[in-house]
Amino acid sequence: NSDDKNELRSPICCIMGHVDTGKTKLLDYIRGTNVQEGEACGITQQIGVTYFPAENIRERTRELKADAKLNVPGLLVIDTPGHESFTNLRSRGSGLCEIAILVVDIMHGLEPQTIESLNLLKMRNTDFIVALNKVDRLYGWKTCRNAPIAKAMKQQSKQVQMLFNDRLIQIITQFKEQGLNTELYYKNKDRGDTFNIVPTSAISGEGIPDILLLLVQWTQKTMIERLTFSKEVECTVLEVKVIEGHGTTIDVVLVNGVLHEGDQIVVCGLQGPIVTTIRSLLTPHPMKELRVKGTYLHHKEIKAAQGIKIIAQGLEHAIAGTSLYVVGPDDDLEDVKNKTMEDMKSVMSRIDKSGEGVYVQASTLGSLEALLELLKTPVNIPVRGISIGPVHKKDVMKASVMLEKINEYATILAFDVKVTQEARELADELGVRIFTADSIYQLLEQFKAYINNLKE
Ligand code: GDP
Ligand code: MG
Repeated sequence: NSDDKNELRSPICCIMGHVDTGKTKLLDYIRGTNVQEGEACGITQQIGVTYFPAENIRERTRELKADAKLNVPGLLVIDTPGHESFTNLRSRGSGLCEIAILVVDIMHGLEPQTIESLNLLKMRNTDFIVALNKVDRLYGWKTCRNAPIAKAMKQQSKQVQMLFNDRLIQIITQFKEQGLNTELYYKNKDRGDTFNIVPTSAISGEGIPDILLLLVQWTQKTMIERLTFSKEVECTVLEVKVIEGHGTTIDVVLVNGVLHEGDQIVVCGLQGPIVTTIRSLLTPHPMKELRVKGTYLHHKEIKAAQGIKIIAQGLEHAIAGTSLYVVGPDDDLEDVKNKTMEDMKSVMSRIDKSGEGVYVQASTLGSLEALLELLKTPVNIPVRGISIGPVHKKDVMKASVMLEKINEYATILAFDVKVTQEARELADELGVRIFTADSIYQLLEQFKAYINNLKE
């Protein structure tokens, strides 16, 4: 009943952290265990997003707290594979995620991308829980499959407990150096100012019940207002994908409201607003059928919060990272179109009027914005053109205009996008440089190093 003022939607969680800390493995483990434990658990791997029904979370956290009261319908976790740039960089709209899991490898402590993630979380003022992952790698660790972490810890030898404590103290100190208080979650008396640490293993499952329960209980306790279901549609485009037999589709996260088949929607496009009608609303089949390619569940309507694939015409130039709007019966289409293009304004205003500068390309609007922001200070690197998506020949052509003017600006800074073979060949032929990197910081460093080299 959507008129119920007290109805809550599922909290949305994203996973962040340094490469190889186990972000993907953690999610795989949470999903995988359920498949093995039975088919009736109802976990659905949504598009780029995994939905964990409350019933499932209750089941797997029973040992930890049998009487746990779960008021939210479930938990929506934004998957990392393919969404690295999206989850790791500032996203558009009213902050897509309620909470983040920051994964730290207990053997490595804080690493460069952990600190990048932390800075983004601070900037967005997003709450987070630290998963101190790979506890099973502590020398002598005794496996306690799926056990709550306190229980698993009691099973360990004095030596393992000491090893664990040493590492924990080191890591708490490292967080302190970043200006943050952290504490083992079951010892944390000051939740709120002190961030929780949950030791986990993505291999044997220790601490997994703890992190699931903590995510749900913490969000439903501290974010009631934000999680109260509202009819007003709030929806973000996660990815633009071509699907066999369906043409270009968009994967979205519906944060609030309800989407229906036949709704008129407006999406932000590179060449202006795209007005279209929802032909189909799809989600994949439940877990067991995930690997069956190309089969989806059709829905007449879907209520937030959910990850959804939308099929509609004319989505070819839609931009990932922007907001989607529904044109309601009382809405003026022109107003909605203007609202949709708001997202592009800040980016367009960054293009240098002189027409001189580098060419910047990224996978999503959010990552493009973050990159443009980085190019502003401390030295302003002018930008003559931008694009979202893979680097094509036409982008190389546009960048090549600078060859005769300011040669070093005949450069494409490409973040988290593919470079087509033809584009690569043309760039070599013309002398246009294409820099690519997995991190916007690395990309900037590469370009700076190149400029410094020229000066010498
Ligand atoms: P991501 O880059 O953060 O997504 O990291 P992955 O999930 O790809 O994991 C990186 C590597 O660490 C893989 O070889 C995993 O098998 C391993 N790994 C992840 N989590 C754990 C863990 O809890 N314990 C152990 N021993 N290995 C892990
Ligand atoms: Mg990964």
